[in-house]
Amino acid sequence: MFFEKTLDKRSKKAMIDFFTGHCRYNTMNSWNRSTSYAQNIKLHKLGLTSEQLNAAYETLQADFWDEINQPIADFTSEMSGRYTIGTNGRSSGYLVLYNSKYELTGHKSHCRTCGQRNYRYVYTPDATAEGVITAAVIARDYTIGNKCGACCAEGEYGRVNYTLPPKRLSVYPGKSFDQNENFSEWSMLELRNRVELVLRFDQACDEIRDNFIELIGSCKVVEEVVMIPKTVKRIECCHAS
Ligand SMILES: [Zn+2]
Ligand SMILES: [Zn+2]
Repeated sequence: MFFEKTLDKRSKKAMIDFFTGHCRYNTMNSWNRSTSYAQNIKLHKLGLTSEQLNAAYETLQADFWDEINQPIADFTSEMSGRYTIGTNGRSSGYLVLYNSKYELTGHKSHCRTCGQRNYRYVYTPDATAEGVITAAVIARDYTIGNKCGACCAEGEYGRVNYTLPPKRLSVYPGKSFDQNENFSEWSMLELRNRVELVLRFDQACDEIRDNFIELIGSCKVVEEVVMIPKTVKRIECCHAS
């Protein structure tokens, strides 16, 4: 636990101190003035050894974010999409806690060939147990047949209705989080729930840090493999002369 701290959740003061002492950062830009709970993930703030730091600077040249950010997806799904984590700041030096929400995309069907999404259902008479769908409803919400508008695939290769309506995560980056909040008015239950949330955020930051350290560790192994043949070659060369 590098970011995550332990605290006494029976103490109102300890919880309020935890909130007011927690690292914060802008949710958008400095002129917006909205801030939220954050963690500084700049390399020199990660508590790395000098060896790890060297490897880390080298790793930064590669695009590795997708390899280590799974904890964000886990956190977001655990929070049912009500909270998520994003990066902000110059060179994305901060992880920031955001308000968010799952919203339906409104798509009703998708193409099995090209994946194109469609805002209308495919009308399949057998699939509607309730029976009668009026012509007006069919015209507005349904298409007769399932031909894809993008790639023209139809029949078994064409569009099919979603069984689960697809959703996307909407993030509210302009919204501040517990900024200028008067925590003394909060109940113990409210405080505890908030502590749980912020600790879970800190835990996700730790998991991302762990992933990063694991990544730079494995990156170094590759380089050592590359170095060994070079060293061997040089020794052989010296021996021959
Ligand atoms: Zn298609
Ligand atoms: Zn490397």
